Amino acid sequence: MNTADARRIGDELEAVGGMAVPHLEDADIVILYSCVVRHAAQETVHNELIRVGQAKRQRPSMRVALAGCMVEDDTVELARRYPFIDRFLSPKTDLPVRDQVVDLLDLDERYRVDPSDAERVGLVSQPVTISQGCNRRCTYCVIPFRRGDERSRHPREILREVRSLGQRGAKEVVLLGQIVDRYGKDIGTTLGQLLAEASEVDEIARIRFLTSYPVDFDGPLMEAVATLPKVCEDVNLPVQAGDDAVLRRMARGYKTMFYERLVDEMRSVIPRLSLSTDIIVGFCGELEAQFENTLALLERVRFDVVHVAMYSPRPGTASARLWPDDVPQEEKKRRLHEVERVQSGIAGEINGRVVGTTQDVLVEGQRKGKWFGRTRNNKLLFFSSDRDLAGLVVPVEATGASSWSLQGQLVDPVPTRIIPHAPRIAS
Ligand code: SF4
Repeated sequence: MNTADARRIGDELEAVGGMAVPHLEDADIVILYSCVVRHAAQETVHNELIRVGQAKRQRPSMRVALAGCMVEDDTVELARRYPFIDRFLSPKTDLPVRDQVVDLLDLDERYRVDPSDAERVGLVSQPVTISQGCNRRCTYCVIPFRRGDERSRHPREILREVRSLGQRGAKEVVLLGQIVDRYGKDIGTTLGQLLAEASEVDEIARIRFLTSYPVDFDGPLMEAVATLPKVCEDVNLPVQAGDDAVLRRMARGYKTMFYERLVDEMRSVIPRLSLSTDIIVGFCGELEAQFENTLALLERVRFDVVHVAMYSPRPGTASARLWPDDVPQEEKKRRLHEVERVQSGIAGEINGRVVGTTQDVLVEGQRKGKWFGRTRNNKLLFFSSDRDLAGLVVPVEATGASSWSLQGQLVDPVPTRIIPHAPRIAS
């Protein structure tokens, strides 16, 4: 979401004559997007702020803004610690981006360049924020305190951004919200409707969305994923724990049985669905037996991908206030590695079943002399070709698999263009 928001603000700055520079030291305006979802992320932001402060000492005309979730309601402490920050851009405020940066735009005319509104975007796949904030209060989560209550962007504004990205070279958009399935509930529309409208943008071949919430993923959304050809059969559905007592303490609002039934229904409505999830290990009071319930759930559900993190208490959250962080760090690490070990076996087996099939791959670029891209199921696939295939959907036969990626071989005939309404191949 920070990447999407930062790109939007970059677009606004370009529209008023700004230009991206590769080195921090050369910038007139620096806007740092911050994340505090875990302690390690927060430390990274502090280190970056020190670097920005050093750059500003060398270039006093530099204007600095801090954006993202580190910006609290009360910025006194941040302003005291980092007096060089000129402006705080709160993620709770939904001013048009241009209004948010207006104070930073008081630049000397000689620094300005001609607006380049048709600047191409660097990556084939681009994130687009469609809603902000969250009305839930999972006990470990700091996001609602920083990003505020849930609110949706107007579809007209989102579609304008999607169209602009398509015209500038993007082939895939990833629609983002804290609970993306709830998109539109506050403005009388739905995510399914938005997916249908975004599908009409000719230049865009694929659409994904993140992050889903189990109790909000309803039947109409399943139908939309199953029937809209550009929408990929790929869902991130965080379960967080496989034990009902831990889920209750996290205030997730569902039990494992509900979650598993939902997955069964999704898999029956959406053929070839790939499913990823998020897991927190070492949550307050998590017993060994409760952790083992999580491993057992992984074995039963068999996700394509599991993102696992160690619990890290966030100041101001209910879990940090109510319960001790009582699982030792070493034990958290062990549980994390155990999840990775179990998941590695499951992912290896799932990916192995792809070997021998032909996949439509949206080519993103080259790495170590090989082309790479993603299948509709979001699997990374590497293959060789001496043609420039970036941005095309090409058929690739999977010939090898590991837990993390696939190897393949381009299938003839070599494609030359994308058919807009169905991401298939024309020869
Ligand atoms: S639903 Fe997600 S963003 Fe909202 S409180 Fe829970 S973990 Fe945080």
